[in-house]
Amino acid sequence: MIHLEGIRKTYRLGDTEVHALRGVSLRIEPGEFTAIMGPSGSGKSTLLHLLGLLDAPDAGSYRLLGSEVAGLGEDALAALRSRTFGFVFQQFHLLARTSALENVILPRVYAGRAAGDTAKAAALLGDVGLGDRAEHRPNELSGGQQQRVAIARALVNSPRVLFADEPTGNLDTKSGDEIMEVFERLNRSGVTVILVTHEPEIAARCRRVIHMRDGVVERDERRGPPVAAPIPVDRAAPPSPRRGLLGLLPELSLYFSQALRALLANKLRSALSMLGILIGVASVIAMLAVGAGARRSIEERLSSLGSNLLMLSSGARRVGGVSMERGAAARLTLADARDLAASLTAVKRTCPLVQGRVQVNVGGSNQSTRVLGGGANYGEMHASSPVHGRFFTEDEVSERARVAVMGLTPLRALFGDRDPVGETVKINRINFTVIGVLPEKGSGMGGDQDDRVIVPVTTAMYRLLGRQYVDSIDIEAVGAEKMAEASNGVIALMLKNHRVPPSQQGTAFDLRNMAEVQAMLTQTSQTLSLLLASIAAVSLLVGGIGIMNIMLVSVAERTREIGLRKALGAKRRDLLAQFLVEALVLSLLGGAIGVVLGIGCSLLVSLLAGWATVITPLSVILGFLFSALIGILFGILPARRAAAMNPIEALRSE
Ligand code: ADP
Repeated sequence: MIHLEGIRKTYRLGDTEVHALRGVSLRIEPGEFTAIMGPSGSGKSTLLHLLGLLDAPDAGSYRLLGSEVAGLGEDALAALRSRTFGFVFQQFHLLARTSALENVILPRVYAGRAAGDTAKAAALLGDVGLGDRAEHRPNELSGGQQQRVAIARALVNSPRVLFADEPTGNLDTKSGDEIMEVFERLNRSGVTVILVTHEPEIAARCRRVIHMRDGVVERDERRGPPVAAPIPVDRAAPPSPRRGLLGLLPELSLYFSQALRALLANKLRSALSMLGILIGVASVIAMLAVGAGARRSIEERLSSLGSNLLMLSSGARRVGGVSMERGAAARLTLADARDLAASLTAVKRTCPLVQGRVQVNVGGSNQSTRVLGGGANYGEMHASSPVHGRFFTEDEVSERARVAVMGLTPLRALFGDRDPVGETVKINRINFTVIGVLPEKGSGMGGDQDDRVIVPVTTAMYRLLGRQYVDSIDIEAVGAEKMAEASNGVIALMLKNHRVPPSQQGTAFDLRNMAEVQAMLTQTSQTLSLLLASIAAVSLLVGGIGIMNIMLVSVAERTREIGLRKALGAKRRDLLAQFLVEALVLSLLGGAIGVVLGIGCSLLVSLLAGWATVITPLSVILGFLFSALIGILFGILPARRAAAMNPIEALRSE
């Protein structure tokens, strides 16, 4: 079955070379029960590892069932390790934090069999006398019991050959005896058993003893024939069944629970390494929320301003809302507003505006708010028609009527839940009748849009603010295509009406196209978003590096576990998947917490700063996708490192 010819193995330790095997030739037939004996350092373990395909020889030929092993690819070797061979180690090598049953199932997973099918694993645990310990973890079992779990694990894929490296070396005599009985029973049932030992009593129970000394076979002693009915070994290793994506699910769910366990075992470390992703995702979400909020409030204001709107004001420079000097030639009047609407065909309507701050009283309560004096068409032009009550009329404007349409903020403060329409309020100690309630506008970047009272422009000028002139005139063109014509007409008419001298004509009036202002605002908010996005990207990158770092540490720490998994038949792909899942769990968990934090931050911003924020589902999905991407991207390097390890070197590492 197994035919070795001139096998050599040399270890290099710095400059010195250790010739562990110096030309070993031997045959092993199916059904044999063989012990490899010899003094320490004679090359027994090295030989066993080569036989078990855990390591490769430097020279010589290893033929398994007539075909050369050296030509096999990694996956074929992994398949042989998981399905044809079984391994038992002196140190048991069980996965900590994992129940006996799960330990036994592991090679089944690597052989592509359903992990959920625990019947065979449970039966094997029963066979080795541990039926009642299936849920115990290795640290809750004695050495003998652990070794029996390891034997059950080696048998779970019904191997033809069982390799054991000093299986009783760490056990007391009684436990060692029991283990040997298990081996004898297995051999009688047809399994080929090859074990390494330095104890003559153990070797005495075998049918063949190969004595090693200084890397060569010194003596080969046959004490009995192989068992009569060995389990036949297939000519070629049975190929693992092809697994589709669905077939990988049980494996992935196993990795998932293992990943969670590994992360929970190092809570602080996991939390710290998640921090970068967490902050990155949170800032992505918050940034998108603030950006979207700003855009929405701009859009809302655009629509509330109405379309095709021009805003005419005198050419005075305004600094922070305070009028500086005002050109005498360019003071706007109510007559200007009327004239513009009447004389220009490109102008549909106009609305004069004044603004100021006032005190509003009802009974004992007092509220400071913004007063806006406008024309009767203000409501229609600015999408502010009352939701309750009515707007004031042209007649009321010409009569300087003491009527007010109020925003929600002063209303709530003064009236609570009472219906204000028809009630009397004092504005700067003058009685006004409330005739309407303005629609809710929410708060934008300019502050609370509902904190205002609108009265007829004449009332505001002559009764409340004591002004002769209006602050600005809103002008609506008849259509978008008439905007340019309207602009030119407005300026020309104003220059003519006010007889502005040529030297001041350039600065006398300030005419703004509101659509252009909005476009500029949108541009600014986009630039801001881009800036925030790049900050978020940097922190995501840092987060990714954090994850990569912690995964590299984890791979280094668990080298032995990786070696064991390979010895049990894990393919590169299995280990790649395992560590990728772990990185993914870490980054997704960070991402999830980041999403929650990001939403919290946006809410806080809108609460404290009064900015509108909008959390879109897209931003949440984006946050998750980003963190998954980072997990995969930065998990690949550590996972590849794990997958590329040599099984026996990994197993031997400290
Ligand atoms: P045995 O199992 O008979 O005690 P081994 O096969 O473990 O012997 O080792 C044979 C020789 O090879 C010993 O001298 C040992 O020190 C050396 N050796 C084994 N493994 C390594 C290794 N990974 N690196 C360097 N030397 C090794």
